[in-house]
Amino acid sequence: MSTLTILQRGEPVLSAIAKPIHNIDSAEIKQLIIDLKSTVALAKGVGIAAPQVGQSLRLFIMCSAPSERYPDAPLLAPSVIINPEITHTNNEQELGWEGCLSVKGKRALVPRYTSIEVKFLDENGIKHAQTLTGFLARIFQHELDHLDGITFIERLDHESDAIDEQQWRNIISPTKNCD
Ligand SMILES: [Zn+2]
Repeated sequence: MSTLTILQRGEPVLSAIAKPIHNIDSAEIKQLIIDLKSTVALAKGVGIAAPQVGQSLRLFIMCSAPSERYPDAPLLAPSVIINPEITHTNNEQELGWEGCLSVKGKRALVPRYTSIEVKFLDENGIKHAQTLTGFLARIFQHELDHLDGITFIERLDHESDAIDEQQWRNIISPTKNCD
């Protein structure tokens, strides 16, 4: 197990369309999944996509838990999502705060569908069809965007709508910043 370097926005692989995976059982994919899980855990992220570590493949990990950055996040054990698709949305979007391990130190209010129907394969190649709502729907849309070469910055009207993490802390919990 090793942790991988997380690439930052501007790297070409982060703006490329990633390729579907046809060899889920291969040693390379199994190792990539192990390494992505340890990388996202160390970075305390709620998700990470293969392009963020330089692999242009349609694979991401979702792993939600309450944290300083996402205090209301639900608990979700690390889930492997391969060749994902959104098959339906409820056409209703809401704004929520997002950050990204590939856009260090920035946060923004990003519009996302509040309910989506999704299809994907897990690490055993088993097909899943699920409805995701709220924060989990948000993570899925954020990570799927990475597979299509999009970061949350491209979802904003203006790049300047993203603010520094310190500013964001002052907005969400001004009392915690007395020190
Ligand atoms: Zn991201």
